[in-house]
Amino acid sequence: MPPDCVRGIPPTQSAGLWATPVKCEPMIEKSVCHWTIRCCVLAVALGAGEAPGQSRSTMTAARQRMVDEEIVAAGIRNPRVIKSMRETPRHEFVSVPQRKYAYFDMALPIGESQTISPPFVVAYMTEALNPQKQDRVLEIGTGSGYQAAVLSPLVREVYTIEIVKSLGLKAARTLRRLGYDNVHVKVGDGYKGWPEHAPFDKIIVTCSPEGVPPALAAQLKEGGRMVIPIGERYQQTMYLMRKTEGKMVAEAMRPTLFVPMIGHAEDRRRVLPDPANPTIRNGDFERVAGEPPTPAGWHYQRQLELITDGDAPSGKNFVTFHNSEPGRGCRALQGMAVDGRKVNELGVSLYVRGKGIRPGQSRHQQPLLTITFYDQNRGTVGQRALGPWRGTFSWQRETTRLKVPKRAREAIVRIGLLGAVGEISFDAIALKAVK
Ligand code: SAH
Repeated sequence: MPPDCVRGIPPTQSAGLWATPVKCEPMIEKSVCHWTIRCCVLAVALGAGEAPGQSRSTMTAARQRMVDEEIVAAGIRNPRVIKSMRETPRHEFVSVPQRKYAYFDMALPIGESQTISPPFVVAYMTEALNPQKQDRVLEIGTGSGYQAAVLSPLVREVYTIEIVKSLGLKAARTLRRLGYDNVHVKVGDGYKGWPEHAPFDKIIVTCSPEGVPPALAAQLKEGGRMVIPIGERYQQTMYLMRKTEGKMVAEAMRPTLFVPMIGHAEDRRRVLPDPANPTIRNGDFERVAGEPPTPAGWHYQRQLELITDGDAPSGKNFVTFHNSEPGRGCRALQGMAVDGRKVNELGVSLYVRGKGIRPGQSRHQQPLLTITFYDQNRGTVGQRALGPWRGTFSWQRETTRLKVPKRAREAIVRIGLLGAVGEISFDAIALKAVK
């Protein structure tokens, strides 16, 4: 079993709508690792786009398991959405080499520096749309076509727009091959919506603009819903918007991290990241959002508790990750721009405290702060870490310097137990470029 499989970090993991790469989470068990490899080898050996009969049933089994452990266990309740997640063959929407990762809750590269969204995010956004049989839905950001396929059995029609021509054409072919006849794909800039088919009952945006594109608000029906990640390049909030008396009423749902909406939306972006000065946002967890409150700026939070008491080494708040099931997901992450041509090293510091920490299913499942670097095509170019920590210990300060690969353009910082068991707390996480 290759170590990457044990750790659940596929070697080609890319960013984009970054998911959960350090993810030996519930479903990474030895058996899964074996079947994923076997499936891949079989598929490649046959040179086939279709998985052979044997692996198709293993794919189905893996999908059910993923839905149980990553979708239902993570709080998705809508039975129709769960059913669609159980039935949609995500492996058909990624390339053959990526299929072995199709039923992990993570984004995967689909070419052109873009990614297929992680299954939990797809389920979460779909549930937030509250899809009804009669709905006509507009999606911005077709990507692989997977999100559109999940929506297809839940609504009447799906109209989806992709700005990258090769992706749009490929998604249209995949959707046609698999019989998703109520999905209509168009290549173009989704910023302008699809006026010919407006108004829509629901709009789902799977790339992130800085604000709601006015054409999309205009093309939503009165009483309709829009689910959209809005914000800065690396700091976004998922919003549920309801159109009420002609106005968009916004409800913030959770912090998130999507690829940017390019085209018109990107040209109008006012806040731009500075790749020469990467920083951690809200590293002391003092800014909170939502109800119940969770730390702002940190995404894909799993098994994280925000704690406010006199024990915090910095400010009032800190975070604690708890996990009792070896291999289970337990993390939070954030992304940033970092240019390896301008930044040689990152100086990292934090406070950490541990209680009964032991490795998870293997010695690779350990609590860490990891930084994964990505190149301009969102291919992984390196990973560095601070940690691991074991056992029980009170607050201690740790500092280190981590080398930045020359080819790095973006990075993801993750904290958590990352498959280990016990309890770990973090506070005052800081990161600074050493030029
Ligand atoms: N929903 C997709 C994943 C989305 S990734 C899936 O299920 O696979 C985001 C996608 O949005 C990318 O393919 C990107 O090319 C596309 N995109 C970015 N800006 C866009 C725009 N202005 N209009 C349409 N699509 C856009």
